[in-house]
Amino acid sequence: MTKKNSVLIIDDSDAVREKIIKTLESFDLFARYYEAEDGLDGFKKLLSSPVDIVLCDLEMPRIDGFKFLSMMKSRADLQDVPVIILTGMNDRELKIKGLEQGASDYITKPFDPEELVARVRIHLKVKNLQDDLKRSNELLLELSNTDHLTGLFNRRYLMDVLDKEVQRSTRKGGNLSLIIIDIDHFKKVNDSYGHLQGDIVLQKVAVLLQKELRSYDIAARYGGEEFIAVLPDATIKEAAFVADRVRLAVQTAKFSGALSKLSLTISLGVALFAPPACSSVDTFINCADDALYRAKSLGRNRVEIAFE
Ligand code: GH3
Ligand code: MG
Ligand code: MG
Ligand code: MG
Repeated sequence: MTKKNSVLIIDDSDAVREKIIKTLESFDLFARYYEAEDGLDGFKKLLSSPVDIVLCDLEMPRIDGFKFLSMMKSRADLQDVPVIILTGMNDRELKIKGLEQGASDYITKPFDPEELVARVRIHLKVKNLQDDLKRSNELLLELSNTDHLTGLFNRRYLMDVLDKEVQRSTRKGGNLSLIIIDIDHFKKVNDSYGHLQGDIVLQKVAVLLQKELRSYDIAARYGGEEFIAVLPDATIKEAAFVADRVRLAVQTAKFSGALSKLSLTISLGVALFAPPACSSVDTFINCADDALYRAKSLGRNRVEIAFE
């Protein structure tokens, strides 16, 4: 096993803990060993240091192994930590009860060192596989929600968010505003500076947009050089104000290197979710898009509001 894991051993007998640690050490299974004399002490240690596996005696003074198992159950973040219970030779009932309470396995005392190590290895392997799986799932989720070039949310995620926000606003009322942004004459940027520099411009616009938003607003790349910001609880006036700040931030932005002579502008359309004209995700975006179209035809580098 290449990973360096940590183990927590809970037993009221110093001799038992010492013997377990000696055995595990001789197989070089762990980088860190934590010890506790009862369930409460063990639980405190578990909360303060992440542990990959727990070996826990059942019969202990004060907080025993069963109480410890039920305390573990109350914490969602501890559900994946396997617990192997240590039981006496003839404790058939206790073994069953311990397994029912959430233990992954049991070892009978006095234990056979090789059996102890074999069981610990199995549960450690499962735990490590689970951890890997969790990490790759998180990574996948992040990848599938994110636009790779700009780091903003992607269109797929945006549509999910809009769907939820539109439902929420329909059910509970409350304002919901949307800003659609399109870079002016972006084709010229690509033509003059090349596609790679064009990408840098897109990244910069994404940063400027994100900067002007509140933490609960959502900024997404909607398409090539188009962005959408969703502003829950923002009135149309507030959204238009934000939109104009973004417009100004882009207009005054300084680019470096090959782009140092570039002056960039954007056009923006703002809409409020309000039936009957904007009553679904599609019509909501269309409303903002119509306003954007107006901003373009009125000369670009400006904010237009739907239905004004
Ligand atoms: P307008 O002011 O009317 O919006 O003009 P425009 O040139 O911005 O609009 P148009 O839709 O004609 O061109 C958009 C350009 O954006 C064309 C396309 O090559 C470019 N583009 C789309 N996605 C990317 C990308 O990921 N990177 C780069 N560099 N360019 C992109
Ligand atoms: Mg005991
Ligand atoms: Mg466009
Ligand atoms: Mg454009």
